[in-house]
Amino acid sequence: MAYDPGNIFAKILRGEIPAHKVYEDDHVLAFLDIMPRAAGHALVIPKAPARNLLDVEAGDLAAVMAVAQRVAQAQMKVFTAEGITLTQHNEKAGGQEVFHLHVHVIPRHAGVELLPPLSHTEAPDVLAQQAAQLRAALMG
Ligand code: 5GP
Repeated sequence: MAYDPGNIFAKILRGEIPAHKVYEDDHVLAFLDIMPRAAGHALVIPKAPARNLLDVEAGDLAAVMAVAQRVAQAQMKVFTAEGITLTQHNEKAGGQEVFHLHVHVIPRHAGVELLPPLSHTEAPDVLAQQAAQLRAALMG
């Protein structure tokens, strides 16, 4: 399947819609999910166009995973998390809704279930504060 540059994450990359960014370099952007399945739920994406795992360049995939690790380490501190769940969906049958490769990085606490997907839209001021905390932890 071809990459569609009209997807929502491509619009975030082009600055056409806002995002609560937590990390950015030449190859990767990380930002908070607006419908988090737990507090601090982040998405890590390559800047280069890639629909998903099936077409991403290996170097971009490696860069995304390296940033996912750093975001996870920051989440452990900021959210006093006890664990991290990574998820990554590919194509409609694989659960993918947005067709620009993304890795979900989700802080976890023992005994706390994830919220169902798309069940709760977080308040922008909460996301802004969490993003600021994660940016600070990633710089420190
Ligand atoms: P998928 O099911 O494709 O793996 O996950 C897509 C994710 O994108 C969902 O968790 C959803 O909450 C998130 N999402 C959808 N639209 C937006 C948006 O406009 N901004 C942000 N930050 N996240 C979004």
